[in-house]
Amino acid sequence: MKGNAVVIGGGIGGLAAARALAQHGWAVAVRERSPALPATGTSLGMWPEALEALDEIGVGRRVREAAVRVSDAGSAGLRTPAGRALVELGGSGGLYLVSRSALLAILADGVGITFSDGVTDQRGLAGVDLVVGADGTFSGTRRTVFGERYAARTLGAVAWRGTVPGTVSSYGETWAPGAMFGITPAGPDASNWYACLDAGGTFKPPHRQHLQDVFGSWRSGVTEVLDRLEEGAILHHELFEVPPLPSFVGGNTALVGDAAHAMAPFLGRGACEAIVDGAVLAKCLGNAATVAEGLAAYDRQRRGKTQRMAAMSRRMGRLAMMRRGFVARNAVLGAAGSVLRRGQGLFRRQP
Ligand SMILES: Cc1cc2nc3c(=O)[nH]c(=O)nc-3n(C[C@H](O)[C@H](O)[C@H](O)COP(=O)(O)OP(=O)(O)OC[C@H]3O[C@@H](n4cnc5c(N)ncnc54)[C@H](O)[C@@H]3O)c2cc1C
Repeated sequence: MKGNAVVIGGGIGGLAAARALAQHGWAVAVRERSPALPATGTSLGMWPEALEALDEIGVGRRVREAAVRVSDAGSAGLRTPAGRALVELGGSGGLYLVSRSALLAILADGVGITFSDGVTDQRGLAGVDLVVGADGTFSGTRRTVFGERYAARTLGAVAWRGTVPGTVSSYGETWAPGAMFGITPAGPDASNWYACLDAGGTFKPPHRQHLQDVFGSWRSGVTEVLDRLEEGAILHHELFEVPPLPSFVGGNTALVGDAAHAMAPFLGRGACEAIVDGAVLAKCLGNAATVAEGLAAYDRQRRGKTQRMAAMSRRMGRLAMMRRGFVARNAVLGAAGSVLRRGQGLFRRQP
């Protein structure tokens, strides 16, 4: 079926859904409360399912061209703060790293977006065939459909992230009790970094100083990043997740992306799942006779899968930053890594 749709939120989930629906013949309007797309942003890992969905909605080639492949990243893996390798990450041709701003610009190309147009009262949307709630972790659309009971909850952890100029001597993640630091390439002459602490609330600036205090004695790749940090370019926020919703749909409304399943970032899957949501939603509606039938199919195909992913991502964060039992964890990881290297030549963290 076809019809008209309003997409609330012009982030990755909203723009993927808008493109996919338009491809299936829907008339789509995207309403975004920010004045413009962001011009800067850190890198996002794109796993194969997301790349397939991007192919389906016609932008996979452009995203791959704008991205860095992990196999081009040089040495990477999981390490201890002293630099001891727990697991080496082989050349996984499947993972691409793309900057959020480049991905958004590609997704937005040709999509009708009105900026500075936040939706404050969804009653104004009566009359449209479909409402897509793509308004992120603190989604007002989710509140309208399910009430306050499913408000986002803190994960008891905070993150810092950013991009620094130049490459570093080694990429990958460093795990320590209560803390982790990750570095990925972000193009031929830039590196993306992220750091997490299992601490509640947010920290006051200067962030550079906090990062130096916690991570300043870690292995060389980490200190190379810290030496290049600029205070104004550091993003800092608390980490949240959305509790498992009883449905991703209500009436003629579908939730996609973080509005439906904001998850801990430790598997690097939130944006990937948001893209897949958009492609699946449009396919389900395209194959259905009514909006209700299409939305029911979307809920069936996406809810269980993404909620399992969110649970795994939360557990991965606990594993990475565990305060007790990390010696045994490191031994298990080391053994698993060498078995996998022998068997497949590759350790993949993809679930
Ligand atoms: C530290 C960290 C690292 C991550 N790394 C990865 C990674 O490597 N790979 C990956 O796949 N994912 C990653 N993610 C997750 C990813 O960033 C999110 O899952 C993804 O951005 C969700 O996209 P979205 O469009 O659903 O939500 P958002 O990006 O939050 O977009 C929501 C949009 O809705 C707009 N909006 C909100 N309310 C309204 C309103 N009332 N009216 C109109 N507009 C509104 C907002 O302005 C925003 O533009 C990471 C997340 C974090 C925190």
